[in-house]
Amino acid sequence: MNIVIFGPPAAGKGTQCKLLASSFNLLSVSTGDMLRAEAAKDSEIGRQFEAASRKGQLISDDIVIDMIRQIINDEQKKAGILYDGFPRSLKQAKALDAMLSGLGQKIDMVIELVVEDGELEKRMSGRAISEGRSDDTPEIFQSRLQAYRNYAAEILPYYKAQGLHVAIDGSRKPDVVAADISKAIKALANNHSQNGPGMLPSGPA
Ligand code: AMP
Repeated sequence: MNIVIFGPPAAGKGTQCKLLASSFNLLSVSTGDMLRAEAAKDSEIGRQFEAASRKGQLISDDIVIDMIRQIINDEQKKAGILYDGFPRSLKQAKALDAMLSGLGQKIDMVIELVVEDGELEKRMSGRAISEGRSDDTPEIFQSRLQAYRNYAAEILPYYKAQGLHVAIDGSRKPDVVAADISKAIKALANNHSQNGPGMLPSGPA
């Protein structure tokens, strides 16, 4: 099962992926975490990431697509992947579909965590203190929110058209949100076992 956890910065994507990965035996993959690890190594990719993230901008599609390709090829025997922070462009979404279809797999569901901007800003300032992320400043955060709006506007319609999109209220406590996502995943798993793989979930379009 391959699931994209989608949402604006500070919506709780990372928290949800960690909570859900162990319960469903899925691998949680965060392109943001991989890029921060590159930055810690001071690699060429890490330097490109730092230049982009200082402005709240995205890094080039080809870099993150390559990172995901390596993970998918290594981890294809797992039950599936929870994608956190990927895809962030239509090019990435289509590349992901192509890579998965080469393995006889597909994206099964796209969970959008819906949280209002004011709440996101509050969470971001809390996280700036607890995690010390250099892109969690009020100015950079606004650029990241704007970048999110831009890529959400092209990616969400793509997944909605395939009937894969499920919106979840992400403003609640993490365990309450996780319980809702778990329900959606279980419904999808039941649908799979009744109809065989390849069927789309019957969730809201
Ligand atoms: P995140 O931790 O997911 O919020 O990602 C932090 C930063 O990493 C983003 O603001 C981007 O600069 C970069 N990044 C992470 N994932 C991607 C992606 N899929 N495409 C482009 N840039 C990304």
